[in-house]
Amino acid sequence: MTEQNLLDLDALEAEFTPVPLPPCSVCGAKLGIVEIGGGRPTIYACTSTEIDRQHYSASRYRHTGAGDSRVVSLIQRVRQLEEALAKQAPLEEATLRFPTMLRKMWSGGEVQEWINNQGPLFRAPMPNRPSAGKTD
Ligand SMILES: [Zn+2]
Repeated sequence: MTEQNLLDLDALEAEFTPVPLPPCSVCGAKLGIVEIGGGRPTIYACTSTEIDRQHYSASRYRHTGAGDSRVVSLIQRVRQLEEALAKQAPLEEATLRFPTMLRKMWSGGEVQEWINNQGPLFRAPMPNRPSAGKTD
């Protein structure tokens, strides 16, 4: 299985997007939690005040699509980052060559001036290393 298959964002989004809770199938009232926990889907039923056993039984709803909005948020963040990466211009190698004319007896100041005139050069930051003798 390739990384692309493991990170099928559309499939993950479909799996983890919460499905809204429907109203009571009998009277249309809001359903309330009647069974929760044990690693099983939450069971809802009609919360109307005056219902009989038959109404209660008919209104029971096993909610299997609770999803996880945190996962959906992560998927959205990954998509934003992928979009930003796609827009980013590719990095180019910056080469600093020591010009042959500097082999003459130029002063340190002249060499530094030439380096400064090359414009900014960028590189990836060095990985963090523990400083010797530094304690927290
Ligand atoms: Zn009802």
